[in-house]
Amino acid sequence: MKKFFITTPIYYVNDKPHIGHAYTTVAADVLARWRRLEGGEVFFLTGTDEHGSKIAQAAQSQGVTPQELVDRESQKFRDLWKDLNISNDDFIRTTEARHRETVGKVFERLLKKGDVYKGHYEDWYCVSCESFWLESELTEGNCPDCGRKVEKLKEESYFFRQSAYEKKLLEFYDKNPEFLSPKKRAQEMVNFVKSGLRDVSVSRLKEKWGIAIPGDAGHTVYVWFDALLNYLTASDPKIWPPDIHLMGKEIFRFHAVLWPALLLALDLPLPKKVFAHGWWTAEGEKMSKSKGNFVDPRALIPDYGVDGIRYFLLREVPFGADGDFSMAGLTARYNSDLANNLGNLFSRTLTLIEKNFGGALAAAPPGDIVQGLAGKLKLVRDAYDRLAFSEVLEILGAVVTEANRYIDEKAPWNLVKTDKAAAEKTLAECLAVLRWLACAFYPVMPASAALMWGQAGEDSDLSQEALKVLEDPMHGWTPGRKVQKGQILFQRKNKP
Ligand SMILES: [Zn+2]
Repeated sequence: MKKFFITTPIYYVNDKPHIGHAYTTVAADVLARWRRLEGGEVFFLTGTDEHGSKIAQAAQSQGVTPQELVDRESQKFRDLWKDLNISNDDFIRTTEARHRETVGKVFERLLKKGDVYKGHYEDWYCVSCESFWLESELTEGNCPDCGRKVEKLKEESYFFRQSAYEKKLLEFYDKNPEFLSPKKRAQEMVNFVKSGLRDVSVSRLKEKWGIAIPGDAGHTVYVWFDALLNYLTASDPKIWPPDIHLMGKEIFRFHAVLWPALLLALDLPLPKKVFAHGWWTAEGEKMSKSKGNFVDPRALIPDYGVDGIRYFLLREVPFGADGDFSMAGLTARYNSDLANNLGNLFSRTLTLIEKNFGGALAAAPPGDIVQGLAGKLKLVRDAYDRLAFSEVLEILGAVVTEANRYIDEKAPWNLVKTDKAAAEKTLAECLAVLRWLACAFYPVMPASAALMWGQAGEDSDLSQEALKVLEDPMHGWTPGRKVQKGQILFQRKNKP
């Protein structure tokens, strides 16, 4: 079995879970489900980042301990992943003992090797972002990330000798052109490294809420250094290295430069791919805490269903590009693709079979559409390999459209009056396509796909059968099996 290790970033518990977190996690889930369906040995990791002064400050202002705060906030992410049908294999929290142990070991090892050393750090510091900035990086004298005031800070600090890995990193990028994706963001990273790497501060003096540095009281591990190591903590050495690190573009540089430099220092194999997707705006505006316009995916579930949201996120925008989330856009996409196209294909096919053939067909499909499905599978595989989720869904959408057109042309509702056998064959063709579509949509819309599979008359475990049916649409085809037109799969929405 081919192993497949995929990660999301660990999400900072000082943020409320929003559509951006859901986007990364749903994308990772779809890939994980696809690889499992293909027989891969998948390890899908997500979790929460729980240290840093912002947490300590928030806890103090709420009159709780930092641990109480992170327990409560981390749970919100786990609850959302449950609601969104996320199939992660592990959930790591940086406050766990297993993680403290890893961080301590890594720190000691790098210290011994001379890749971590003690010095003094002085630079512009943003308290809010917990980041040091060079004078040249400031935006009009303020933090380039959040725009807040920065202060000059000098303190004793441990440093990671990142500068020693500049040449090795460039060599690695050069030999592994697939490592950083998408291409345009990859080039920015290469240029950044080429412009010269400085050593990075990996500890804080005043930080109380963090992992203490072994043997040096008062120093704690810098929160970003701590966070990156989560991937090592949670991974069994047998499945190292990760096949894909998925993330938003704002943390690409940490994963594209600092993280591989650290792994080089630790003599560990580097991840196969680091992929940064784009950002969502909300109704045309940047989402921010000050505007309070973060889209809460949970609020959309009652109207659009978990699968409606999962589908929209991956279909609407090519993965890697920026996109806009709007209620009108969600409604339009839901209606056109799911209610009017896919849902309608199921509804009309099954209604005709029930009305005219007592719910069961004896005929075999002639193959008009079915014979082309193997070719579609090839395209789907290729698109998944490129993380081109919107292409996967376009390919499947085209199959749905083709089947709807086929019914329109053959008009089995008329045909049944003059040539019942021909009408039965037409519907058998459509039913075979429905079974195939249930399998094909499974990674993106697992719950709806299971419903589709059941409606097509199947009672076996879809996830077990899906690959076989995708490769051979006639696999498990049993003449005379009764279809079960049950609930409407996707109820049309009238207004956003
Ligand atoms: Zn800032």
